[in-house]
Amino acid sequence: MGTRECGRFTSYSESGPGDGGRTGSWRVVRPVINLDLCIPAKKKKKACFMCWLYCPDGVITREIPPVIDYEYCKGCGICAEECPAGAIEMVDETGDAREEGK
Ligand code: SF4
Ligand code: SF4
Repeated sequence: MGTRECGRFTSYSESGPGDGGRTGSWRVVRPVINLDLCIPAKKKKKACFMCWLYCPDGVITREIPPVIDYEYCKGCGICAEECPAGAIEMVDETGDAREEGK
């Protein structure tokens, strides 16, 4: 975890991929970006990136188009909640496991 000292008494941390281990194994739903709706993908310019800003694990790139690192995405759904274009769908990943459990 990144920490930085500011003056004598204050410090803070920044999230980053892998800080919580391979958190992709926690996931039961996967965020999928619809590039037809994603603003930077549609406009072909750097804009929006609210998903990048709000992802608590820092696993979305700030590039065109944004890319999610599924090794570390834990499926929290914050990116989908914050996307102003409704471009991120949370897709169930438990279908196969449910079938096997029958
Ligand atoms: S928040 Fe939505 S529209 Fe904005 S860059 Fe991310 S996926 Fe694209
Ligand atoms: S669901 Fe979205 S906000 Fe949550 S960890 Fe995955 S990419 Fe980040």
